[in-house]
Amino acid sequence: MNQSNKDYLEFLINSGVNFFYSNEQNNFYDKTNININKLHHTSNISLFNINTIEELTNYAESFVDISLKKTANKTVIFDGNIESKLMIIGEAPGKEEDEKGLPFVGKAGQLLDKMLKAISIARNDIYITNVIPWRPPDNRTPTDEEILKCLPILQKQIEIMKPKLIFLLGLTAAKAILSTTLSLSKLRGKIHKYKSINMNEETDVLVSYHPAFLLRSPEFKKEAWIDLKLLKKKFENEH
Ligand code: URA
Repeated sequence: MNQSNKDYLEFLINSGVNFFYSNEQNNFYDKTNININKLHHTSNISLFNINTIEELTNYAESFVDISLKKTANKTVIFDGNIESKLMIIGEAPGKEEDEKGLPFVGKAGQLLDKMLKAISIARNDIYITNVIPWRPPDNRTPTDEEILKCLPILQKQIEIMKPKLIFLLGLTAAKAILSTTLSLSKLRGKIHKYKSINMNEETDVLVSYHPAFLLRSPEFKKEAWIDLKLLKKKFENEH
């Protein structure tokens, strides 16, 4: 180590930073080293020991350190069929979802049901969830920090469910799953891939407009219809 590096390390240690000053290399991908659960959670359950959606729901219900949870009425995890190979991911619960504890049961949900019916897919054929399990006040868009805090819950759902196909509704879901800030017009119409470090195989991902956006901007329904036809084709190939 040259003198200037040594001085710099000593300066960091004297400032209270000593985490990386160790004899062994840190392995950030070693699951036993990841402490994210302890930061945001009250119980001793570790996300790594969770194997079912029911356990994950209990885990989310005892989550702390996210102010959204204090203003929301219910923790909204999923609706539909836990054996489905198609996972649909939206943004966050709205007013109706927050009251009922189920995703996509308000106006946007009714439009989504109609869209899926048009391609012969029923709610019981899909597993539907959101990036954020708690309603943001006034239905505002979740912040990047909120998305990051909730991401382990969403990733775990994907690891448990092992869907063959994921359909993302809107930019928040695209940002969370594809780590992109590209516009929807650039993302839709293509097959993307998703894989977390705990998955052996990649999952195909399609992106389309959020139904709440389509309610405000019906001129985009034509493009959404093209996306739905692609979804139908892929969904049928998986069955
Ligand atoms: N919008 C979403 O993104 N999710 C819901 O559950 C309802 C509306």
